[in-house]
Amino acid sequence: MVDLQKQYQKIKPEIDAAMQEVLNTTAFIQGPQVQQFADALAKYNNVEYVIPCANGTDALQIAMMALDLRPGDEIILPVHTYVATAEVIALLGLTPVFTEVDAATFNIDVNQLASKITTKTKAIVPVHLYGQCADMEPLLAIANKYNLHVIEDTAQALGATYTFSDSRKMRAGTMGTIGTTSFFPSKNLGCYGDGGALFTRDKELAEKIKMMANHGQRIKYHHDVIGVNSRLDTLQAAILNVKLNYLSEYEQARNKVANYYDAELASINDLEIPKRSIHSTHVFHQYTLKIKNGQRDVLKKYLEDKGIPTMIYYPVPLHLQKAYKRPGFEEGSFPLTESLSREVISLPIHTEMVEEQQHYIVSCIKDFFC
Ligand SMILES: *Cc1c(COP(=O)(O)O)cnc(C)c1O
Repeated sequence: MVDLQKQYQKIKPEIDAAMQEVLNTTAFIQGPQVQQFADALAKYNNVEYVIPCANGTDALQIAMMALDLRPGDEIILPVHTYVATAEVIALLGLTPVFTEVDAATFNIDVNQLASKITTKTKAIVPVHLYGQCADMEPLLAIANKYNLHVIEDTAQALGATYTFSDSRKMRAGTMGTIGTTSFFPSKNLGCYGDGGALFTRDKELAEKIKMMANHGQRIKYHHDVIGVNSRLDTLQAAILNVKLNYLSEYEQARNKVANYYDAELASINDLEIPKRSIHSTHVFHQYTLKIKNGQRDVLKKYLEDKGIPTMIYYPVPLHLQKAYKRPGFEEGSFPLTESLSREVISLPIHTEMVEEQQHYIVSCIKDFFC
């Protein structure tokens, strides 16, 4: 699905030098590279504050802690997403309120938001799934009307740009109260281990987030609130400092593959190519097809036999997961997401794909359907 080895080989001298520099200084925790990376990413995203942390799941948890969300508060999130989003909500004793997604873009269906809001609702967590932004303009309008926080899960869409109706452009993760992201190795900006970050435009909130991520202390050994230990390693920051310079190039490479897949696969009746949002650029963390007529699993096996890896994101919807089952959650509660779990399949898409690989994948898919 990704080729991290080949990607590393291309930038090896730069990466190795950056890592060696950290080894020479042994400043493994909070070395200068961490703040350098935070500043560089803030500039890239055109946002005031970037607070690095240990991973994308922690970023979501820290965001909710910093916003003082309390047990019993209801948090609206899409039901078609990675488990991390729901996991931290449940861990903090908050109530996840699942919402269907838009059939075309796979992102939270903003038309259903108003019906989910109660007196207990405190926040909406849009997930910019597969690489393009949820429809933020109407979402922010609803959040504003009901005085709700917006925490954007940008783990899959770092670098995507949303255009508002007045033609203002903003990066994924910088439109709501807080944005969160992940630097898991296979993400669009991946480090060589775990990493994550939070974005905000609010100075006070940025300070609180920083405190939350560092044992609830502003001054060493003075703990104002209960926090967590969640830091980005200096080594990872040094790697990310190098890789951030390539993020635009990586995004272009992914788009080139997506454009090719689109052009070659659009005419096959039994599948649907990914619909692109008219409001957002797509960074193609995943290239996800919908396969009709119950053929998805047969196609997956067929491609596997041809040596082509594919993935299903996500095979079991959150409301049917053992850990998240609640009265009223059953087969049929979220029919659209349930059908997606039977139809979606993600093809290999990454920065190092050569034309030969793309041709082979496309020709195997065409053979299957012809
Ligand atoms: C990867 C991912 C996360 C979690 O990131 P980690 O760094 O693995 O903790 C959260 N949300 C979404 C949508 C993701 O894809």
